[in-house]
Amino acid sequence: MKTSFAASVSHELRSPITQIRLKGEALQLGLPLDQDDRARHYEVIVREAERLSRLVDNVLDFAAIERGTKNYHLRLGDLGKTVQNAVDTMRMTMEARGVDLLSRIPDDLPMVKHDSDAIAQVMGNLLSNAAKYGGGWVQVSATLLPEGIQIEVADHGIGIDYQEVERIFDKFYRSSDPEARRRKGTGIGLAIVRYIMEAHGGQVSVYSTPGKGSVFHLFFPFATSGRPISKRPGAS
Ligand code: ADP
Repeated sequence: MKTSFAASVSHELRSPITQIRLKGEALQLGLPLDQDDRARHYEVIVREAERLSRLVDNVLDFAAIERGTKNYHLRLGDLGKTVQNAVDTMRMTMEARGVDLLSRIPDDLPMVKHDSDAIAQVMGNLLSNAAKYGGGWVQVSATLLPEGIQIEVADHGIGIDYQEVERIFDKFYRSSDPEARRRKGTGIGLAIVRYIMEAHGGQVSVYSTPGKGSVFHLFFPFATSGRPISKRPGAS
């Protein structure tokens, strides 16, 4: 497992590094590029650098989780805003893959304890999977429940066989479905998502119909008091 993990990480590193080098060299050499081409080159560099940092963050965090040294700093904050920021960060990457990203997040959700960097990582992992195994469009929404807040990430892609639904959150697990196998991956993204959600006292679950798509649910419970804490009027 370790060998195939190392091989898949090396494989995943290669593509963004090559793209960044090629586009950077073209700009550095002053090749005749029109305005649009130059803009596209810069866009690819930024997008691929984002992908690279997501991969490196995942590998480093996974190692820290395995060593038992990963800590999260949960602070009372606006989860809706954290999720919306993560969606905005991923938008360019998703659109470049031809995936429309829609979000329906109410701006008056109560505050809930969370680590905003960790939740950005959770959203990055779910959204990059939704683009990778999905297609067309992806929708992120939020629902206020009596006991907490639920974030949903819905895609319209290949879906997941019911026999695999429990296993996809295991470390290194990659589907045996040939369609899923055609996409590159390391098998640690969802293991990190589950770990982070458990560190928040919450959970991640998935509902999927093979051939139709998947919906991932993230549940964030309110603080132990069990009561939602309202956002200050006028606060954004
Ligand atoms: P990987 O690097 O393989 O994408 P993950 O831990 O993120 O690793 O996901 C584990 C497996 O779960 C994937 O290999 C894929 O088979 C399946 N999977 C994850 N997200 C989706 C999705 N949105 N649609 C279909 N299958 C998915």
